[in-house]
Amino acid sequence: MRAKLSDEILTSADGAEMASILRACVHCGFCNATCPTYQIQGDELDGPRGRIYLIKAMLEGAAVGQATQLHLDRCLTCRACETTCPSGVRYGRLVELARPRIEASVRRGPWARFKRWLIRCIVPHPQRIAVLLSVARIFKPLYPSALAELVPAKAAVAVEPKVRDRARKMILLDGCVQRVAAPGINAAAREVFDRLGLQLLSLPRSGCCGAVSYHLGEISEAQRYARRNIDAWSVALNAGAEAVIATSTGCAIMLKEYGELLGEDPVYAVRARRVAALVRDPCEVIDPTALARSYRVSSRPRIAFHAPCTMQHGLGTTEYAEACLRAVGFELTTVVDAHLCCGSAGTYSLLQPRLANILLDQKLVALHSGAPVAIASANIGCLMHLQRRAGPPVLHWLELIRPHYVGREDQPALGTGTL
Ligand code: SF4
Ligand code: SF4
Repeated sequence: MRAKLSDEILTSADGAEMASILRACVHCGFCNATCPTYQIQGDELDGPRGRIYLIKAMLEGAAVGQATQLHLDRCLTCRACETTCPSGVRYGRLVELARPRIEASVRRGPWARFKRWLIRCIVPHPQRIAVLLSVARIFKPLYPSALAELVPAKAAVAVEPKVRDRARKMILLDGCVQRVAAPGINAAAREVFDRLGLQLLSLPRSGCCGAVSYHLGEISEAQRYARRNIDAWSVALNAGAEAVIATSTGCAIMLKEYGELLGEDPVYAVRARRVAALVRDPCEVIDPTALARSYRVSSRPRIAFHAPCTMQHGLGTTEYAEACLRAVGFELTTVVDAHLCCGSAGTYSLLQPRLANILLDQKLVALHSGAPVAIASANIGCLMHLQRRAGPPVLHWLELIRPHYVGREDQPALGTGTL
């Protein structure tokens, strides 16, 4: 795609990168076929090619208005279009780079600004989330159903495993929302890893990965979260921790972008690249063969696996997670249109509820069609979104595996993984 860009754009770091991404697009439109918002809206500007044109027009100096902002807001950043694109256009990166420029050009209304501010003030902070959810649950019976279903049920108290001091250690991201809404996920990770001979370290000074701020176009705030995590993990990494494990794929993909997020930071750039290179989804580390020696279900329960967009189109680890579930003995159902987003997409379900609910209903029909006894996924946003409507239990795949330990405590099967 040819673009007439000004020197100011071409000489800026983000402008030059956007120009290079734009050049790769041959405007064939294949990407529209897998774009969830294009399928719902039927509008070229609500598909990837149209959005690329809008960004190109902005960079060429066209006035940016609320229409551009709206079509970009409707994008889930699910990156299904990237998986489909034959030219390797890095659409997700292009949109993330464009968003701060659009935010700077178009002032949102007071209610929209307040909502975004409120999300940034609460979501990355576990204690604030805990207080908000406690209050919200008290008044839940009074809410209309659309609002009531946004308030998750109180999470069961996580049964913390007894873990041993292991020679092989990895850092576990504790994160923010997941710590409050589903503490059982990281408890399951600690136990499963321990029984495979790996110790997961929780380092209290770390926190939110920065994804909420990043996707809302608040880059300097996301950078602050990234620096805090890098500082919190430095000592353990220098002492030999082999990897940074994130049990939520949305967080894992954000951590993997630390190198780009802090690429211009003279103090943190090198350390950010080091952390990014060590980030792993648990299924990248767990060896299914070792797992099968320690965990087993006998009755082949049917499970529907929902691969989050960040897993399918970002990390590319779907088949590893599915291999772990199959190794333990679960039967995975067929899920039609598995490439489509469930509508969670970080803060999307809060900011674009109409589209998010359409996608949720479509996804639940697909997941329920194989009559599973449970739905497994790998990202806290997807899990909470899918749990909103009745159906079989929705759990992280590690939580499904955890109760089925059949190995012997004194003979851990050492996980070799892919490190
Ligand atoms: S499929 Fe790729 S090259 Fe074709 S229009 Fe979409 S982004 Fe551009
Ligand atoms: S990221 Fe998802 S919603 Fe956005 S343009 Fe691509 S396919 Fe469509």
